[in-house]
Parts: sequence; structure tokens; C-alpha cells
Amino acid sequence: MTMISPNAPTAELQALDAAHHMHPFTTAADLARKGARVITRAEGCWLTDSEGERILDGMAGLWCVNVGYGRRELAQAAARQMEELPYYNTFFQTTHVPAIQLAARIAELAPGDLNTVFFAGSGSEANDTNLRMVRTYWAEKGQPQRDVIIGRWNGYHGSSVGSGSLGGMKGIHAQGGMPIPGIHHIDQPHWYAEGGDMTPEEFGLERARQLETAILEIGPDRVGAFIAEPVQGAGGVIIPPSTYWPEIRRIVDKYGILLIADEVICGFGRTGNWFGSQTMGITPHIMTVAKGLSSGYIPIGASIVCDEVAAVIGATEFNHGYTYSGHPVACAVALENLRILDEEGIVERVRTDTGPYLKERFESLADHPLVGEARIIGMMGSLALTPDKATRAPFAAEAGTVGYICRERCFANNLIMRHVYDRMIISPPLVITRAEIDTLIERARISLDECHARLLDEGLMVAGERG
Ligand SMILES: *Cc1c(COP(=O)(O)O)cnc(C)c1O
Repeated sequence: MTMISPNAPTAELQALDAAHHMHPFTTAADLARKGARVITRAEGCWLTDSEGERILDGMAGLWCVNVGYGRRELAQAAARQMEELPYYNTFFQTTHVPAIQLAARIAELAPGDLNTVFFAGSGSEANDTNLRMVRTYWAEKGQPQRDVIIGRWNGYHGSSVGSGSLGGMKGIHAQGGMPIPGIHHIDQPHWYAEGGDMTPEEFGLERARQLETAILEIGPDRVGAFIAEPVQGAGGVIIPPSTYWPEIRRIVDKYGILLIADEVICGFGRTGNWFGSQTMGITPHIMTVAKGLSSGYIPIGASIVCDEVAAVIGATEFNHGYTYSGHPVACAVALENLRILDEEGIVERVRTDTGPYLKERFESLADHPLVGEARIIGMMGSLALTPDKATRAPFAAEAGTVGYICRERCFANNLIMRHVYDRMIISPPLVITRAEIDTLIERARISLDECHARLLDEGLMVAGERG
């Protein structure tokens, strides 16, 4: 066997990567031409690449490294558990201590009567579980026709067949025969792009009432659940208007449908509370969690369900499970991660100290000529790039062209910011310090300046039609 050395020249690593490794959500041919950036180490909020560059990670990996990189306690928890019991399943009337402890701890943290946990290996898997659980729930209650689940356009719930269907990403739907039957999508509460001349409050109500319209059209006896992220993440960090969630709650209650809050990003401190549902004032029947549950150190996801759903599902055999449901090593790491979040007061700090500081600094970017709005909640925020601040117009260039240019400038300035079309996203590790926040904002501003200069240069500061 010949294996490439980790210290091989970057170009060799890139060539081998291009030859054998198919990347998620990537055009392989383009990446092969450019070469992927090779990340070799990380500590706190900082990544190191194979060229020795230090990069500030404004995205916490993929919204997940809440406690930051390099926490030895997490590595040690994994090593300890691997030595003691590296694997056992929980299918056939067995259990193990890490799954018991983690389920109990999650139940303690989760609001209301969300007291029971079904483990999965990822957010996508957990949402697939939710899809089957909701339909099984209604079937067991003698209402098998209640099989329609309503989601939202531009919502993200994962990219497996089930979770990708619940989500409303058209690019995902276009590949692989999705959405599957029985899923209906309503519009998102994205005021900046779609609110037209309405106030955000009017628009929030209008979008929430689409849920009621959809329920009445489909038939109130046909709809089983509504699924949504408390704050949309992958769709571009869309913070709904204040009127949105109270109205959704009213409608969900009125028609007696289940509410699934997809907390995969919002959960575990991202919005300044343990869960985004608390920040938004909602009490879901089911929550999806993953990402921050283990700070991304190891794959794990879960569905947290309320007592009523747990009782109904629990009365029959639920023919569902993953080999790695409640994987002991993943549970041990997640448990240690939750201990760190709690004992170091990280969620509290986001709510009362670094979160408000980041908000103040991030919102100051709104004065930049390229920025139409800068909105942030806790430690997830986004900038809308625009050629015309007054009208909130999009660019004439194809959506995403400008965002990509801006992202490249950030990358060149050793700051990871992601773009969703022409919105720039941040979601840093929750342990980011004030000094690091200053660095983040400074680099973001330089990158915006460089992007702006290039747009002027190339004649791209041109408004297109508002969608
Ligand atoms: C990332 C994400 C998922 C999917 O999680 P995976 O672990 O990638 O399968 C689901 N929902 C939301 C809100 C997410 O951000």
C-alpha cells in the first residue's frame, strides 16, 4: 500500500483529492481545476491549512463547532468510551450507559414536555425519522389519511430523500425524484427579498397565514405536521419578522397539527438560548437536533419528542432505526460537549456578552455601500449584498455571482464566510472572543471593499428585477 504523506505538497494532495474524492454540494470539474483548500489543523476559532495559513472560521465548520476546535476533553471522552465499549446497538432490548445519560440530559435541557429522544447519525437521518414518526403517529391514532407534511420553500432539513423532500431547496428537488409524495411547501418569511412594499410585520403575518391557507386547501384532516427551522440557516440566515412565529403557533394549535422545529443549527446555544424555539417563543412537539449536539466532533443527531407522541409511538413497534442510533462513542462525546457548554456558561455568554457585542459590530457593516441589511440573532447572521440599498434590488447578474466573488475575497483574507446566493453568512464558534470578533468584522469589511471595487470595475453594480 502506498499512502500519501500528510506533509506532501499541497498540489499533490489536491490532485489525489480530485482523482478519488467526490465532494458534497460541489461541481467536481470546477474544483479539480482550482484545487480544494486542504485544512490540516484547528484550534479555538482558527483553522490552519496545508500552506500554513491561519484562517478565522466564521462558520464554525458547517454551523456546528459550537465549543470551538481542539477541546481535548472531547477527544478523551471518545478514547475512554472506545476502550470501554466502542459499539453496541440499542435495537434488541439492550441499552448502554452513554445513551441513557445523553437521552436524560437532552430531556432535561429541552423545553416543555420534550422528554424522549430517538437517536440518529445526522440531521438528515433525524428528519427522516420525523417523517416516519409523524405518519406513524397519526396512523396509530386512527387517522392514517393525515399524511401530508407542510414545509417551506428554501427551508433546509437535510439532503437524504426524505429530509430533502421536507426541505424546499429547488436544486435538491431537481435531482433524484424529489420531493416524494405527501409533502407541500409554503413560502418563506424572507422579508428582505420577497416582502415588496409590505412592512416586515405585515409580511410576517401574510407568510404565516399561508400555512392556514394550505391546510384549508389540502384539508385540515389531511395535514399531519408543519416543519420549519426557528431561524432558517442554509437558506441564508433568514430571521423571520416578529409576527411570524406567534401566528404559526396560533394556526398549528387551531388545526391540531404537529409542529416540528428543526433545531439542527439553532440548537445548543446558537441563538443565545439552548434552543431556537425558546428564542422564538414556540413549543414544538418534535425537535430535530444534530450539529451543535456534539460540536461536530463526531456525527450524531436526534429527534426529541413530546410525551404525547412518545406515548403513541411507544404503544406499537416502530419499525425504524439506524445501526448507529445512540452510538456509545458519539453519545459520550455529545455528553461531554453539553457539559462544556453548560459549565463554561457558553450559552449564557452568547446571550449576554459576546452575542450582543457581535450584533453591534456586525450591524455596523450595514453602512457599507454593498450591504442592504445586516441581521443577526445570537451567533448567526447575514448580510444582504445589493447594488441599490434603497430599493433592496438584487443584482442583474445571475443570483450568487456577487456572493461568490465576496466569498473568494473573504477566503483570500483568511476569513471563512459562506455565501447563499448574494447573502453573506456568519455562524462562528460560540466561544469566539471580543478580539476575534473585531478581527472577523475587520476582515469582512476589507473583503466587502475589495468585492465592491471589483464589481465597479466589471460593471456588476447593476440592479435587476425584484423577484
Ligand atoms: C445541516 C442541517 C440539517 C442536516 O443535517 P446533516 O447532519 O447534514 O444531515 C438538517 N436541518 C438543518 C436545519 C440543518 O442546518
